[in-house]
Amino acid sequence: MSSFFDSISARVADSGKRKRDNSRGKIFHCDCGQPVFFHNTACLACQAQLGYEPDLGEVRSLAEGTEPDTWVLASEPKGRIFKRCGNLNTPAACNWLLPADSAETLCLACQLNRTIPDLSVPENGELWRKIEAAKRLLIAQLLTLGLPVKPMVEEGDGGLAFDFVGTSVDGVAPLTGHASGLVTLNIKEADDAERAKMREQMHEPYRTLLGHFRHEIGHYYWDVLIADGPFLEHYRKAFGDERIDYGEALKVHYENGAPPDWANHFISTYASSHPWEDWAETWAHYLHMMDTVDTALSYGISPKAVQRDYEPFTEAVLTDPDDPSAQDFLRIVNAWVALTGVLNELSRAMGQRDFYPFALPAPVVGKLQFIHRVVKAGSEQVSRDETVAVTIDEPMLMAGAAAAQNMQTQEQGDAGQSQGDGMGNNQGQNLGPSSTPEGAPAVGAAPAAAPLDNAVAPVNNNVAPVNNPVAPVNNNVALVNNPVAPLDNTVAPVNNPAPVVNGVNADGTPANPTTPPQAAQQPVPAPL
Ligand SMILES: [Zn+2]
Ligand SMILES: [Zn+2]
Ligand SMILES: [Zn+2]
Repeated sequence: MSSFFDSISARVADSGKRKRDNSRGKIFHCDCGQPVFFHNTACLACQAQLGYEPDLGEVRSLAEGTEPDTWVLASEPKGRIFKRCGNLNTPAACNWLLPADSAETLCLACQLNRTIPDLSVPENGELWRKIEAAKRLLIAQLLTLGLPVKPMVEEGDGGLAFDFVGTSVDGVAPLTGHASGLVTLNIKEADDAERAKMREQMHEPYRTLLGHFRHEIGHYYWDVLIADGPFLEHYRKAFGDERIDYGEALKVHYENGAPPDWANHFISTYASSHPWEDWAETWAHYLHMMDTVDTALSYGISPKAVQRDYEPFTEAVLTDPDDPSAQDFLRIVNAWVALTGVLNELSRAMGQRDFYPFALPAPVVGKLQFIHRVVKAGSEQVSRDETVAVTIDEPMLMAGAAAAQNMQTQEQGDAGQSQGDGMGNNQGQNLGPSSTPEGAPAVGAAPAAAPLDNAVAPVNNNVAPVNNPVAPVNNNVALVNNPVAPLDNTVAPVNNPAPVVNGVNADGTPANPTTPPQAAQQPVPAPL
């Protein structure tokens, strides 16, 4: 099967010639022909059960297997046998599948949860539902890109884990951030009103759960793909030297705001705070771009149909114009510019906020190309690892767990600012002495407003939620049936004996997601 990169490159080059190419994309159908969507669990037209098969990257119709609680893809009755994720009938309403013979009860995406919200608090079920919906979009994209997604078994092993936590009984708000593979999210971010308020306070043009996840996961993949790996020197050339004092850099950022000319070099004001944040912000935009362009192409939306001339980016802006994928990348980024321009206009025609309230200066496009190369290399490495044993003399692209352990620590308390100009903690209050500057309360120095316009935004899969004839995710289902929070992957969600107390680990020890690891402060200041 061709890789995602082969597929999207062919489709974007070909767009306008063919109406639609479903060879690999974001459009799903029930076997009865009904259009269905990423989060659907059943088809309303024919009542078929639906499940997301992460290896295929598709929502498929299911038929019952011969054993109880097993399923096969309806179109492949003799094919692989699956079971449904144990979080199906919980507020998470997870529609993912896993192999029936897996020792796990939760799908890959749900296995990544280390702490989930306390479901004895009535409103937490709905918050968790939204969080999991965004997280599944994230994980599905990472898998589509071919990036390694490995659950953390123990801290510092190079794996990935999520803590979804609220304010503690002592009133301490958790800081959204990343440290050594652990992504912490303050569940208040799933409250739309709270998040909108925070976005206003932070003067951010954009703040979403998916944006938070895409930003934080960028820090994780810095550990995995950059730290101590062959790309490190290239990274420093493109983004600056990450060894400058992180805490100090953020402090300066909060006190002084972004440099006046930030928009010429960065995707957001926050990106100008430190090379790690520049990477995470730009990484998030790379994921935004790839997912949205992929979705637009899946629906036959051609950048060539956009009736407006944009000056396309050329090799001149690339960090590596000789890279074999340089032309493919340029086509994707130019499609992104054309599509987002139209989508912004569509948003304005509806009186909505801009779909993509950002501008892409040439240096950011260069950084995006660097990320494209890194992601492709990471993807190719994973696929080599999966097919054959890794040849020893091959330079490893993955920086590995050891590197991951001593680096990270950034972002505690990150305003999550996926793409915001953000700063500040999520609550702006009582963060305690250990909070890092990223968790500092918003300062009045509103950095220059993010550029409002220009290019961008392709239609996407939201096409039909309202009219969607297909069974919506069954939210609410499980507050009653799931009095216990599955704290981690090793525990079956339904029978999970572990109490789900916010901030408490499965073994009863207090989880302490609010303790921010100290920022790695290494010497060697370097100019941004
Ligand atoms: Zn159907
Ligand atoms: Zn799941
Ligand atoms: Zn960050």
